Amino acid sequence: MVLTDAHCHLGSRQFDENRDEIVSRMIENGVEKAILICCSRHDRLASIALRDRYPGFKLACSIHPQDLEDDDPQRLTDLKEALVECRADMIGETGLDYYSHPHTKEAQIRFFEAQLEMAAELGLPVDVHSRKASLDTLNIIKKYPVKGIIHSYSGSLEMAQLFIKQGYYIAFGASVLFPNSKKPAHVIAGMPLDRLLIETDAPYQSPIKGHTHEPADVKAIYEKICEIRGIGMNELADRVEANFDRVFINTTA
Ligand SMILES: [Zn+2]
Repeated sequence: MVLTDAHCHLGSRQFDENRDEIVSRMIENGVEKAILICCSRHDRLASIALRDRYPGFKLACSIHPQDLEDDDPQRLTDLKEALVECRADMIGETGLDYYSHPHTKEAQIRFFEAQLEMAAELGLPVDVHSRKASLDTLNIIKKYPVKGIIHSYSGSLEMAQLFIKQGYYIAFGASVLFPNSKKPAHVIAGMPLDRLLIETDAPYQSPIKGHTHEPADVKAIYEKICEIRGIGMNELADRVEANFDRVFINTTA
């Protein structure tokens, strides 16, 4: 049985002191496949080293929507160069964050569109960050022949179905573990299992106060989703692993 973490920042500075230990714990817990999200040169270098060592690790690079105070178009040229040079498997995370960074909305749209265009050109899937921006996200992804993942999904079942129709997978994180989170459970119960992914967003989004989230913790999210769907761990693991693998084949919509 293989578990997957469809979104983690293993290259993050927060793991500089204990990255090897974190990865060992991850592998010991069966989390053999993961998407390593890199939104800086530091993260990219640390992640390339891991990707080269672990065949189940995929590399995703991007300019994050929360990082657009500097909207110099040269950053896009540099990104494209980096994607080719490091043989990235995916562009991500890219998207729109009107919740934390409403002041850069216009630049976010421009950079999201440019990265979708790049994904179409390079034949790569995308990992999409969308906060308080569902409708704009949907309308923008409709314009590009690209597939991918909607990361850390927190929207409605109806909206999830519209993303699925565009060829996207829906990834759920630790928010399902919060005692009063009814919405993700409702979406998970109602959506097709062949479009579901599971992620930690480590080191972020820990369900436990004061604990640094790590990929090994994804197991708890799997267990909760088994409960919601009424299926066993082996079945869920196999289905989600097949979904994970499918993201990286036939990437154009
Ligand atoms: Zn993230």
